[in-house]
Amino acid sequence: MGDCLFCKISRGEIPCRKVYEDDEVLAFHDINPVAPVHFMLIPKLHLASLAEAEDVHASLLGRMLVLASRLAREQGLEKGFRTVINTGKGGGQEVFHFHIHIIGGGNIPPMVRRG
Ligand code: 5GP
Ligand code: ZN
Repeated sequence: MGDCLFCKISRGEIPCRKVYEDDEVLAFHDINPVAPVHFMLIPKLHLASLAEAEDVHASLLGRMLVLASRLAREQGLEKGFRTVINTGKGGGQEVFHFHIHIIGGGNIPPMVRRG
C-alpha cells in the first residue's frame, strides 16, 4: 500500500524508534505515547484492521500476541501491560494498518471510564 503510513514506516521510508523487527513484523515506539512505555507491533503485510482479518492471518496474529508479551517484558513491563487494538472508525482507529498497542509503566487507568 503506497501511501499507508505504517507501510512506509515498515519499508524504512519514514523513520521510527524501532523496538523489534523480523521478516514478518515490526515494533516501534508510538510518536505520541500515553504512558512511559508505549509501542506498537505491526505486520509488514498491509492489513487495514482486525475487521479485515481472515483465517489465513490466524497464525500471524497468534504469533504477534505471543511476541507482544515477550517484547513487553523486554521493555521492562514485568508487572504487566495493556494491549489495545482499535478497529475501524467506531473503535477509534486512526491509522488503517493493523497494529497492537503495548502500553505500560506508570499508572494505567481503568480501560473504560464508566458513567
Ligand atoms: P490508532 O488510533 O490507529 O489505534 O493508533 C495510531 C497510533 O499511531 C497513535 O497512537 C499515534 O500516536 C501513532 N502514530 C501516528 N503517526 C505516527 C508516526 O508517524 N510515527 C509513530 N511512531 N507513531 C505514529
Ligand atoms: Zn499499510
